[in-house]
Amino acid sequence: MDPCEMGRDLEKVLLTEEEISQRLTEMAAEIDADYAGREILLVGVLKGAAMVMADLSRKLAHDARMDWMAVSSYGSGTKSSGVVRIIKDLDTDLTGRDVLIVEDIVDSGLTLSWLAANLRSRGPASVEIAALLRKPCEAKVQVNVKYCGFDIPGEFVVGYGLDYGERYRTLPFVGTLAPHVYA
Ligand code: 5GP
Repeated sequence: MDPCEMGRDLEKVLLTEEEISQRLTEMAAEIDADYAGREILLVGVLKGAAMVMADLSRKLAHDARMDWMAVSSYGSGTKSSGVVRIIKDLDTDLTGRDVLIVEDIVDSGLTLSWLAANLRSRGPASVEIAALLRKPCEAKVQVNVKYCGFDIPGEFVVGYGLDYGERYRTLPFVGTLAPHVYA
């Protein structure tokens, strides 16, 4: 996509590349301290968490393992349906492992609460959640996000892995879209 065209589609930048990087550095330091002496298995949720996973994992002092899941919880449009389907499962046996789910955003919380319960049923030593973004005003279920980057308003955001119709994922920042994009 033409970068100029992408720029015209944006309404405002919510979080700059620098703000995201700085917050991920802080989160990585917290995670390193909490998991001292333990091996972490990072579970990234495709596709949205790809950027968070790449940047957060490289800020960790830990030599963490990495695996990926793909789930679908959106029927269509911009709201979670609550019905979660596994599209790609993990390659790793979770028995006895310290699992850290890495997510892009917690909106209603329906996807993550389902995912955390699903992973907990596989016999891990622990399951915690790291999410770059959370929309507290949209929460439908309580999810314990141990490492949260930013609480944001209940607006639909794109960039830094987050898409709208598979576009805008490659933006290095998080922003909102201009109304004409939805029209
Ligand atoms: P939840 O089940 O918490 O409502 O939604 C979780 C998933 O919905 C996220 O992993 C993400 O894929 C998608 N999602 C929720 N809010 C947004 C948003 O503001 N922008 C984008 N692009 N995706 C979102």
